Amino acid sequence: MSGGFAATAAALGLQVLQRDWLSANQTVFAACGDAPSTVVDTGHARHAEHTLALLEHALGGAALQQVLNTHLHSDHCGGNAALQARWRVQTRVPAASHAAVVQWDEDRLSYRPSGQHCPRFAVDGVLVPGSRVRLGPTDWQVLAAPGHDPDAILLFEPQSRTLIAGDALWQNRLAVIFPELVEASGFAETRATLELIERLAPRWVIPGHGEPFEDVAEALAGSRGRLSAFEADPRRHARHAARALLMFHLMELGAVDATELQRWIVQTPLFVAMARQLGANDLSRWALDLIEGLVGDGLVRRVGTRLQPMPSP
Ligand SMILES: [Zn+2]
Repeated sequence: MSGGFAATAAALGLQVLQRDWLSANQTVFAACGDAPSTVVDTGHARHAEHTLALLEHALGGAALQQVLNTHLHSDHCGGNAALQARWRVQTRVPAASHAAVVQWDEDRLSYRPSGQHCPRFAVDGVLVPGSRVRLGPTDWQVLAAPGHDPDAILLFEPQSRTLIAGDALWQNRLAVIFPELVEASGFAETRATLELIERLAPRWVIPGHGEPFEDVAEALAGSRGRLSAFEADPRRHARHAARALLMFHLMELGAVDATELQRWIVQTPLFVAMARQLGANDLSRWALDLIEGLVGDGLVRRVGTRLQPMPSP
């Protein structure tokens, strides 16, 4: 991370805890005046102990008072429950996701269709697009960012032009556009969100995964290029998504029996939907080919009858 970002982060009273592909990054704000100590996004449940330790260190022993989520994928809010157990925190989620959290609707929250795991957590308030939230010494704008997830929000600080992007913009990749996997619209929304980010003209982007970056024009161009290819051939998106979501599942489990993994794929609704979109009639065969593709590309290693994800670059 460059020295330029360190100065911006210090002025904004924030620290970025860079994580990996299973756990999203945390952006941590110390308490400042009326603004409570806050973490934006909490990583995956599997890493919750580590997330707690990192936060305790980042806050220098002070209590965490608030949790905000950019969206409710399991790698962004999987630590919420553990943080609520450790501290008396107020938890705020995107307004559009509020009812689903209150009811703990695992279909609407995507955990059942994606076969992902996220411990239930309580919610105290919402983040409303168009409003502001005080974090550290400054006000941040809350902006709607549909596409990857229909309910997602961005946080933008206009003085320093710093953007907490969640999964709406990464430096070198484009996140899976989930609505398109279930034949809902997501490509157009993704394009509109990239346009919004371009209009904001951020100087720094804190992505959900990867290090904070400055070359926003290049990241936008890369994302648009990938999006155009997916729009031209939605099956290409489905193939990419199937591989990405299977890698995520392997990272969740660490290692899994190959036969069990094949069974899991054919029973997981999002994978069934992707197979349908790809015109695969024999679901078991498709599942096997999907696994073999990852093994063949060196992303997954076979150890006896078990499969292990290789460390990601
Ligand atoms: Zn996400």
